[in-house]
Amino acid sequence: MKDLLGGKGAGLAEMTRSGVPVPAGFTVTTEVCRYYLKRVQSSVVRVQSTKLLPPGFSKEFDQAVQWLQKVTGKHFGDIKNPLLVSVRSGAKFSMPGMMDTILNLGINDQVVRVLEKGNARFSWDAYRRFIAMFSATAMGVDKKLFEEALSNLKKEKRVASDTDLASDDLKVLVERFKSIYRKAMGSDFPQEPAQQLKLAAEAVFRSWMNPRAQSYRKLNKISDDLGTAVNVVEMVFGNMGWDSGTGVGFTRNPSSGAKEFYGEYLANAQGEDVVAGIRTPKPLTELKKDLPKVYHQLRAITSKLERHYRDIQDFEFTIERGKLFMLQTRTGKRTARAALTIAVDMVGEKLITKKEALLRLEPRSIEELLKPIFDQKAKAQFKMVAKGLPAGPGAACGRVVFDAQTATREAVKGPVILVRSETNPDDILGMVAAQGILTQTGGLTSHAAVVGRGMGKVCVVGCEAIEVDERSHCFKTNGTIIREGELISLDGFTGEVMVGQVPLYQSEILSALLGDVAAQGSDIFKKYQTLIRWADESRNLGIRANADTPTDAKVARLLGAEGIGLCRTEHMFFGAERISHVVGMILAKSVEGRKLELDKLFNFQKDDFKAILKAMAPYPVTIRTLDPPLHEFLPKTLEEAQERAGVLGVDAQELWQAAREFHEANPMLGFRGVRLGIVYPEITAMQGRAIFSATAELYREGIRANPEVMIPLVGFPEELKCQRELLLEVKKEVEARYRVKLDISIGTMIEVPRAAVCADQIAQVADFLSFGTNDLTQMTLGFSRDDYGRFIGKYMEEKILAQDPFASLDISGVGRLIHIAISAARSAKKKIKIGVCGEHGGDPDSIQFFAKEGFDYVSSSPYRVPVAYLAAAQAKILESKNMKGSDTR
Ligand code: ADP
Ligand code: MG
Ligand code: MG
Repeated sequence: MKDLLGGKGAGLAEMTRSGVPVPAGFTVTTEVCRYYLKRVQSSVVRVQSTKLLPPGFSKEFDQAVQWLQKVTGKHFGDIKNPLLVSVRSGAKFSMPGMMDTILNLGINDQVVRVLEKGNARFSWDAYRRFIAMFSATAMGVDKKLFEEALSNLKKEKRVASDTDLASDDLKVLVERFKSIYRKAMGSDFPQEPAQQLKLAAEAVFRSWMNPRAQSYRKLNKISDDLGTAVNVVEMVFGNMGWDSGTGVGFTRNPSSGAKEFYGEYLANAQGEDVVAGIRTPKPLTELKKDLPKVYHQLRAITSKLERHYRDIQDFEFTIERGKLFMLQTRTGKRTARAALTIAVDMVGEKLITKKEALLRLEPRSIEELLKPIFDQKAKAQFKMVAKGLPAGPGAACGRVVFDAQTATREAVKGPVILVRSETNPDDILGMVAAQGILTQTGGLTSHAAVVGRGMGKVCVVGCEAIEVDERSHCFKTNGTIIREGELISLDGFTGEVMVGQVPLYQSEILSALLGDVAAQGSDIFKKYQTLIRWADESRNLGIRANADTPTDAKVARLLGAEGIGLCRTEHMFFGAERISHVVGMILAKSVEGRKLELDKLFNFQKDDFKAILKAMAPYPVTIRTLDPPLHEFLPKTLEEAQERAGVLGVDAQELWQAAREFHEANPMLGFRGVRLGIVYPEITAMQGRAIFSATAELYREGIRANPEVMIPLVGFPEELKCQRELLLEVKKEVEARYRVKLDISIGTMIEVPRAAVCADQIAQVADFLSFGTNDLTQMTLGFSRDDYGRFIGKYMEEKILAQDPFASLDISGVGRLIHIAISAARSAKKKIKIGVCGEHGGDPDSIQFFAKEGFDYVSSSPYRVPVAYLAAAQAKILESKNMKGSDTR
C-alpha cells in the first residue's frame, strides 16, 4: 500500500483496519501528486489550478469530505460541531521534517467562537497556530514574521513562555497574524474550510519539489518520481488539559536495540511541541504514573503493531481527555548497533527468518559498528563541560563550527563538530560534512537526533547546559566559552561534551576481532558473530581485502578476508633504505647499473613478501608488479632535488635532470603498469624472483604460501605474454635453486578498456583476471581520478550522474563493459578465476552487481570486509528470491 498511500497513509489504513483507535480520515494517493507534478512541470503558462488535477478528482474529494463529516458527525464551519482536520504529507519513504503537517485546519473566525465556549485559551491558541502554519507551509509566507509577532507580544506582556499568554492575548495575536497574511498575500486569510483544505493539499504536492526535500532524496537515493500522498485526518487534541497529551515512541530502544519501551511525551500539548524540540518532554515511562490505563493500552497496541509488522515501530499518539489515539506508525530508524541487536533478537523470538535478518541490515552500517570509541582512561583526564542526550553513538573530535556553510568548508581541512541551538533541514549538508552534531534543545526524536542518527553521525542533543550564540560564533557552558575553531570531543554513547581532543579507541567489535578477550565476551560481539556466520552461510562470492603490509593482512584476516586481492608493491619502495636504490635504478645508465640497484632491492622485497604471504597463508595473496609512473619516486622541484640529493648520495643536477625526463603530461595514461616491465624487464624479473624465493623459503618452513602474480594495466595480450614468459623463466631458475616445484598463478588486471573488449584473447594467457575498476572507470569515462571533483557535484546536481562513479560502479556503462569482458573471457576459458580489486569491491550496490555477474571474489579495504560479507549474502538471497533490495529495506 505504501506506493499508493505513502508510508503514513498505509500505516493509518492498516491500523484502522485492525481495530486500533485512529482518528477518522482519508488519503489522497500519490498518483494524484504525480499527475499534478507532471502538469506543473509541463505547463509554460500558469494554468487554472483545477486543470492541474486529474479529471473527476474534485468531485471525489468532495465526496470524501462528505463521508468524513458523516462518520465524525462534525461539519466544516459548523456553528455547533465544527470539523477540524490535519493535512499531512506522506511519501513511500519517510522524510523527517521535510514536508510540514498543517494542524487545526477548518478553524476560522466563526468556528473559533464556537470552540471558545469549551475552552477559550485552547481555541485561540489553535487558531493562531493554524494561521501561522497554513500561511508558512501552504502559502509560503515567511515563518519568521509570525515568530517575531509572537515574541513581541510576549515582551509586551512580560511573559517568558507561550503558555503564559492568556486567551485575550492570543486573540490579539490572531489579529496580528491575519494582518501579516494580508500584507504578504494581498488578500484576507481564507475563511472557507473547503478552500483552506484544497490550498493545503496542493501545497503538500508542491512541497515534494522543495529544495530541502530534493536534497534529502538525493542523499538517500530516493527517486524524485514517487510523489507524496496527502492524509486528511480528523483532529484530536492533546492540549485539552492534564489528562491529555501527545508523544512519540519506539517499541525497542532505537539506539541500543534493547527490548524496552522507549519514548517521550508532553502532557497538555499538541504534537508539534514534541517534534519541534521547544519544550523538553518527559520519558514515556512516566505516563505509567500519570495515566496508567492509557499507558497499558498504548503498550498493548504498540506490541501488537510490532508483531504485525515484524519490525521495530516508531509511533506517534495523542491522548484527548483520557482517550488514546494512534496517529502514526512506521518502521523505526535505528543505529547500526540497534539494527544488529534487533535483527538477531527477532530471529531468536521467531518473528523473522535468518534471511530476513540479513536483508534488514544496511551493509554499510556494519562499518559503523567498527567505529572508534573514546579511550576511557584518557577521557577521565578531560573536563566534561556539559552533558546532553546521547542520540547517535560513537566518539568524535573536531573543531567547533556553528553553521552548515562553515562546516562544509572547514571539513575539508579536518574533522568538525557542528554546534547549533537546534538543527533543521537547511543544516543537512553541514551535518553530512561534520563528524559530530551537538544541539542545545530538542529531545531524542528531534530533527538533529533523527537525521543525525540516520546518517550514522555522533550526535548529542538537548544539551541544555550550553548556550549557543550563533551570531558571535561561540557557546558558553558553566562559565567556559568555546569559540569557533576550538577542539571539542563528543561522546555519543553518554552525551558528554569535553573540551580538547580525547584519544579514540576502536569499537568493541573491532577490539574483539583483534583479540581483546573482555570485548570477546560482550553481547554485541556475540550478536555480530552470529550475523556474520549467517551471512557466511548464505553467500557464494569470495571476499578478499586489499592490503600492502603484514599488519594490514592480519587485520584483514581477522575481519574475515579469505585472501588478499591486491597487494601493491610500490609502497614497499618508499622505505628509507630502499628509496635510494629505487632512485639509483631510475638514474642508472645501463642495464647492468640498473640490475645492481635492483639486486639491492631484492632482499627487501623478498622479506616483505615472506611476511605478508605468511600472514595470509594458506589464503591467496595477489601481488601486483610495479604500477606507478616512475616520476612519483623523483623530486617535484629543483629545491626538493637539491635537498634529497645529499640523502640519496647522488648529484642534484643529475637527479633534477631525471625528474624532468620522467615528467608525465598525462601521468595516468603514461609510462606505468606493464609498460615499465616491458621497457625494464629486469624490474619484473627482480619482483618475480623475490615472490618466488619467498614462497620457496616458506614452503621449506612448512607454510603453504599462496601467491598470485598480477600484471597491471595490460591492454594487449602480447604484453601479458611477454611478462608471463619472463616470469616463468625466473620461476624455473628459482625452482632449480630451491629444488621445489612452485604452484603459482600469473594473471592480469582488466583496467584498460581494450583489455575488457579483448578479454577472450587476454584470458588465453592469464590464469586469472582481476578488474581494476578505479582505472577502468577513469579510462572508460575519460574522467581523471584526481580531478573529477571539480565537476562531479554539478553532474550529480544536474542528474547527469546519479552517483559518484568512483564510489559506486557505473553499472550501465562500466558495468556493461565488464559484462562483455566476462562473457568473452569465459568463452575462451570457462573456469578462469575472476575478481575485482577497485574501491567498488567494498561498495554494497557494486557488490550486488559483481555477484550477479558471477565473479569469484571481490576485494575491498580491510574494514569493509564485513560489509562485503553482508552485501554478498544479500545478493544471493535476493537473487534466489528474484527481488530488489529496495523492496525489503
Ligand atoms: P511528521 O511526518 O513530521 O511526523 P505528522 O503528519 O505525523 O508529521 O504530524 C506531526 C504531528 O502533528 C504528529 O506527531 C501529531 O502529534 C500531530 N498531528 C497530526 N495529525 C494530527 C491529528 N489529526 N490530530 C492531532 N494531532 C495531529
Ligand atoms: Mg509523524
Ligand atoms: Mg590501476
